[in-house]
Amino acid sequence: MGPQDQPDFINGVAKLQTSLTPRKLLEALQAIEQLHQRKKDRHWGPRTLDLDILLYGGQIIDDTDLQIPHPGLHLRNFVLLPLAEIHEQLIFPDGTPLVLHLENCPSDGIVRLSSGDPCGTTD
Ligand code: AMP
Repeated sequence: MGPQDQPDFINGVAKLQTSLTPRKLLEALQAIEQLHQRKKDRHWGPRTLDLDILLYGGQIIDDTDLQIPHPGLHLRNFVLLPLAEIHEQLIFPDGTPLVLHLENCPSDGIVRLSSGDPCGTTD
């Protein structure tokens, strides 16, 4: 999705427990992005830090500034693969199993980093 002429990037997925509402969580993530002097020169182009909400329990939200599940989630192998590492049996709010999206999304170009070396050594 978006321009392909950009450098490699590191992606990860985390599972959180929070008392924040989805909107407050989005604000908190955007505040963290700002703290890290996030820079983005073009839409969908390279950025220093990008924090997205992929899912929020089984909720579906479709507002102009917040869509959950994240609209690109089922199309991005670099999101589906790390998501499957922490929850392979996940069922999306629309009833689709994560593994079905994975089958339709080739893992081309994805390299798993070793846990002790986030800077590029593969295992
Ligand atoms: P980007 O920085 O390209 O990921 O886009 C950020 C914009 O996407 C923000 O202004 C958010 O309002 C909007 N957005 C919509 N849904 C989400 C979501 N699930 N997680 C993060 N940002 C979202």
